[in-house]
Amino acid sequence: MRILLLGGTGEARALAARLHPGQEIVSSLAGRVPDPALPVGPVRIGGFGGVDGLRQWLRDNDIDAVVDATHPFAATMTAHAAQVCVELDLPHLVLSRPAWDATDAVRVASDIEAAEFVSAQGFSRVFLTTGRSGVKPFTDSDAWFLIRVVTPPDAEVLPRNHEVLLSRGPYGYDDEYTLLRDNKIDVLVTKNSGGALTEAKLQAAHDLGVTVVMIDRPPLPARVTAVGSVDEAVAWVARLQQSSSSG
Ligand code: NAP
Repeated sequence: MRILLLGGTGEARALAARLHPGQEIVSSLAGRVPDPALPVGPVRIGGFGGVDGLRQWLRDNDIDAVVDATHPFAATMTAHAAQVCVELDLPHLVLSRPAWDATDAVRVASDIEAAEFVSAQGFSRVFLTTGRSGVKPFTDSDAWFLIRVVTPPDAEVLPRNHEVLLSRGPYGYDDEYTLLRDNKIDVLVTKNSGGALTEAKLQAAHDLGVTVVMIDRPPLPARVTAVGSVDEAVAWVARLQQSSSSG
């Protein structure tokens, strides 16, 4: 049995490490980030070319099942995988880490809504952690932005007043607290990415009285099987392996 593991997350790397070499896998990365953290085992890099490209790739590479462990906001890839797996009748699992508790946050549905809220409330010192593609809605803002990204955003989308902080998590509480305090941040804008690696900013914001604007996750496609942990994904693969060898 050969499994395509859609990755680009810590969970995908952890799952690859649990499955390889006992289980035949191919991990897939989008190729957006230069020098990406690579999972163990075979890796392919780059888009498939939409639904048609993915369907062809799965056939050409004799894939028997797909585990989608992409980021919870990688909605296009997740939708493509769900659609093609139904069409080809392939076992398909989504591994999506649990969302953060957003009780204390201002919840919004999109980065555009987040920008509208920040502007309407007159915040002046914004910590923006929504990734390079999440900067554009803030371009015309007069506020000052600390923009933390893995790869630099395009120059034309940057707001007038900003500093770009190039870095990659994980981030600890003390550093996050110092960053927010020293930059006099009054609002933190984040996706509800979930996971422990970038969660410390929420506690730091809470302790400093900084408002948190949290963008809700896009919904999963209808009728997909989803689990929230690497352990559950490993168990799913083991059951699949068992049923394929007994069948
Ligand atoms: P997306 O909007 O859902 O996908 C856009 C296109 O990128 C897809 O249609 C596909 O191209 C390609 N793609 C995405 N993930 C891929 C993968 N694992 N392997 C091969 N092609 C992939 O995805 P995104 O939000 O840009 O995320 C891109 C990658 O970054 C994903 O691997 C994701 O796990 C990771 N990531 C995303 C975020 C985030 O906030 N969105 C954060 C951290 C990491 P084709 O249509 O050509 O197949």
